Amino acid sequence: MSKHVPIPPEWQADFLLKQFSLSHRLGYSLSGVVLVFLPIFTILDATLVSYADGELIWKHILFRLPAVILAITFLLLHHKKDPGFWAYPLLLTLNLSIVGMMAAMFVLHYSEQGGHLLYITQGLTLVIITVATATVYGARDLALIYGLPLTAVIAFIVFSGSPFPDNPIHLAFIPAAIGIGVVIATMLYQEHQRTFIASQQLEHSALADALTGLPNRRSMQTDLQAEWSRAKRDEQCFAVLMADLDRFKAVNDQHGHEVGDEVLTILATRFTNTLRGGDRVARWGGEEFLLLIPNATEESAMAVAEKVRRAVAEPPFATSAGNLAVTLSLGVALHRQTESIDEVISRADKALYRAKQEGRNRAVLAGD
Ligand code: GH3
Ligand code: MG
Ligand code: MG
Repeated sequence: MSKHVPIPPEWQADFLLKQFSLSHRLGYSLSGVVLVFLPIFTILDATLVSYADGELIWKHILFRLPAVILAITFLLLHHKKDPGFWAYPLLLTLNLSIVGMMAAMFVLHYSEQGGHLLYITQGLTLVIITVATATVYGARDLALIYGLPLTAVIAFIVFSGSPFPDNPIHLAFIPAAIGIGVVIATMLYQEHQRTFIASQQLEHSALADALTGLPNRRSMQTDLQAEWSRAKRDEQCFAVLMADLDRFKAVNDQHGHEVGDEVLTILATRFTNTLRGGDRVARWGGEEFLLLIPNATEESAMAVAEKVRRAVAEPPFATSAGNLAVTLSLGVALHRQTESIDEVISRADKALYRAKQEGRNRAVLAGD
């Protein structure tokens, strides 16, 4: 088993949503189990087990009723397909009603010296283990699901003054089942966390550039699309800055590709240290970066471009080949209401080309 890693704080909200949908699936299955097995047990009870007291069967039915009602409620709500924040509390209550049902029967039969208490103990053992497989937060859920009914049972035994059964050895199954239940629930919870973290990491790595850790082109395309829709709706402008290292081929030629990679990595940190919260930057191609500035004007976009240009030009980049002077050229385009994403990027590209032509280490604002 690999080492257990807790969910990082930035993923907690997503994990919560995952746990809600897990509660849906578990509650759905558990409701099915309850609605199939409880009627079967009741029929067996009524036909096969001989009770001296005819009222007992009705008491058994009464104890089973809450679990059946909760299971039917779950199936009805499940059909409605709303966001389902009810699923987790309802799953807990359903689990509680199942253990509560057996605990109540246990109390009912506790003072008997015959075989019924043995059957009930077996039933209690079975449900203690079953409900452990239908938990979403492991032992934390079980504290409630086991704790409440079993505290009631212990309180009954202590305060009722009922004699201890003649042959109590089978009662040892109950703490053993609780131990197994806690282990099962804990392992399942850790497994949920592990698969969640793995899927988040996979999603993250599909959207990040491996060298610089910046968002990649695919990730930026999603951001551009979202910004484009928002700009249309809110009648705001966003700016696209296309940035390209100057004479980068020379760095690779003189110092080697590894040093070139170091430059790209340092460049990425200069970008992220310079940009404000809402601004985004992605590695668009080899040594080309796209910056997305929401809610911009030509002046503010040019100011960002100038700030980034200066942050790259000074101080020199500390690489394994010594300090290197690095500069950046930028093409700046402000999105127009009627323009597509490709069109605004194409204008930024043309402005970048002009920045190169006009001598590099500068930002040029795009025209038409
Ligand atoms: P200009 O000022 O006109 O942009 O000149 P330049 O040399 O930067 O332009 P050019 O497009 O000719 O060269 C880009 C270079 O970037 C060529 C390529 O080897 C290098 N490059 C692209 N991606 C990477 C990378 O991931 N690592 C390294 N080390 N170099 C890269
Ligand atoms: Mg280039
Ligand atoms: Mg270049």
